[in-house]
Amino acid sequence: MRRCIGCYESKPQSTLMRLTYDGSAFIADTDGRNEGRGIYLCRNRECIEKSFKRKAWNRICRSRADNEEIMRAIDAALNEN
Ligand SMILES: [Zn+2]
Repeated sequence: MRRCIGCYESKPQSTLMRLTYDGSAFIADTDGRNEGRGIYLCRNRECIEKSFKRKAWNRICRSRADNEEIMRAIDAALNEN
């Protein structure tokens, strides 16, 4: 079980999209093998919006996250995970 960074609910990993933060960038973990910290998110717009409202991304990278980069990573994760 993994916790979504939007709604904070724990769900089976297979139902969530997975991204990673490698220390400099957020990227879609399309094959589940990326190095770095795993980030899990439900596959719906509501949780994506919640994750931004809660500044979850800023906390992960400990600075102001690049929202465009994150949205690109989310799109890639939605399409390819
Ligand atoms: Zn969620």
